[in-house]
Amino acid sequence: MFLQRLLLAVSVLLLYASAAMAADPELVVLPIDRAKFLAGQKFDLEVEFRGAGEGEIKLLIDGSDAAKLFGKTPVIKHSDTLSSYRFNDVTLKNSGVFKVEATATAGGKTYKKNVSYTVVAPQSTKAKNVILFIGDGMGLPSRQIARILSKGITQGKYNGLLDMELLNDGTALINTSGYDSLVTDSANSASAYATGHKSVVNAMGVYENSDPDPLAHPKVENIAELVKRTRGMSVGLVTTSNITDATPAAMVAHTRRRAEQNFIAGEMLKADVVMGGGSWQFIPQSTPGSRRKDDRNLIEEFKSKGYTFAGARQELASATGDKILGLFNLDNMNVYLDREILKNPDVLGGFTDQPNLMEMTRKAIDTLSKNKNGFFLMVEGACIDKQLHIMDWQRSAYDTIEFDKAIAVAREFAARDGSTLIIATADHSHGVSIVGTYHERDGKNGREAVRTYANSIYPTFADANGDGFPDDPAPDVTLAIGYANHPDYYEDFKFHTKPTAPAIMSGDAATANIARAPDGVMYRGNIPVNESQEVHTADDVPLSAAGPGADYFKGVMDNTEVFFGIVRALGLDPTKK
Ligand SMILES: [Zn+2]
Repeated sequence: MFLQRLLLAVSVLLLYASAAMAADPELVVLPIDRAKFLAGQKFDLEVEFRGAGEGEIKLLIDGSDAAKLFGKTPVIKHSDTLSSYRFNDVTLKNSGVFKVEATATAGGKTYKKNVSYTVVAPQSTKAKNVILFIGDGMGLPSRQIARILSKGITQGKYNGLLDMELLNDGTALINTSGYDSLVTDSANSASAYATGHKSVVNAMGVYENSDPDPLAHPKVENIAELVKRTRGMSVGLVTTSNITDATPAAMVAHTRRRAEQNFIAGEMLKADVVMGGGSWQFIPQSTPGSRRKDDRNLIEEFKSKGYTFAGARQELASATGDKILGLFNLDNMNVYLDREILKNPDVLGGFTDQPNLMEMTRKAIDTLSKNKNGFFLMVEGACIDKQLHIMDWQRSAYDTIEFDKAIAVAREFAARDGSTLIIATADHSHGVSIVGTYHERDGKNGREAVRTYANSIYPTFADANGDGFPDDPAPDVTLAIGYANHPDYYEDFKFHTKPTAPAIMSGDAATANIARAPDGVMYRGNIPVNESQEVHTADDVPLSAAGPGADYFKGVMDNTEVFFGIVRALGLDPTKK
């Protein structure tokens, strides 16, 4: 009896507690307030009434019932704690500002939410092709480090500019934040370039609703879908990471979770040229090394749909046809320094014949430019970011130079073609900065050998063979690079012959990895201890553009405007059939 009473008392208490904790119902409209659309761009419009399962939802657009306006019946769902009212695949065809008013009634109370959408009219065509270069994590300091290493600086004047810095018909600073948080990841930010819409960390091509299914969130039409639907253009994706990684994935896929790699691999069939690493998502689970959870053999599926498959540099060189799938590593491709210069077999792990980004870019352009309707190509320098995460600025810098030389390949094509817009930008920045230079000529080492102000004599990087890459990543006088946001790690200011993690997770905490710099000094981390790598920053990133439509890019712009610059240049008009 006593036990029963006690249980009753506890359950009553719990009831009170949960009632006290339950927040007021919240009305959410997706897309969010101030979303901007290209006229005729498809999207899913969803109203969620969170916290009330029996809410009756109404939706007005400029005072008219949304169902009438779209000529569609909404999909209405109720669960214990949620009511949803959704239209799939709708468009707003007229330009202007639309007032969207959602109301929900539950328990005798009415809740309201007002948002507004801006729709921009299609423009007349200026460009036939667009090539979007995304240096992942390539903030201003990354560009400048590459410029110093590649071109050199004498008595304060640079001996040359990078190819991306010669794209100067349009220049802008780009804000990179998502709608959920100040600091973005690569999914979220690439999604803004691909759709013109903000999203949230780890998401691409969708707004975030409450559905646990990552593929069920409301979608917005992306650039790959638009150029194919409206003009029959070809689409190419080239990267040095897993091809299913966030940046290339965001060009074609819609998912709340970038970790849905099996799904994303299948979505790559939306592109005509697909090149990078990550073959483990394309081979059936029975094959050693596979990361698939099914028996799909995507390489065979691609071949059956007319793609030529290339698994190594020589195969890529000889590949012909209108469609190419090139997968050159099981995981991310190796970085330029390891792939082309150091060639340590331990690091390459059997992938000794990977093409470089210039070769992939050239093959992609040769293949895509066969389409008379034009093409959209995205080329990513993916490991600029990945190497900064592990605080290896030299490997990052060589990949930035490689990325720049791929831009040179595109500039050659654009000069011949005359109707290609080239955009070079980053998706976010890193907390990396040029503090000065570093040398041990006077016997000092460690932080005492970091040379600041008048002591920061010029570095001695040399490029005797003129290939644009320094002959030696570790010259007598090198750069002193500082990191703003890092875990506990050992610093020796030296070049490391193997890529090495700065810290290793043990339980919930990252511990400095002595193997990174056995003679180094431990620097205390300044971010939470559960971060084992240097992290992204919210710093604006530079954008440079040249060619028809490049004049769109000026001043300080939101990352979603990159999409609008692309569709404006192409004159895409999805309101036409
Ligand atoms: Zn990153």
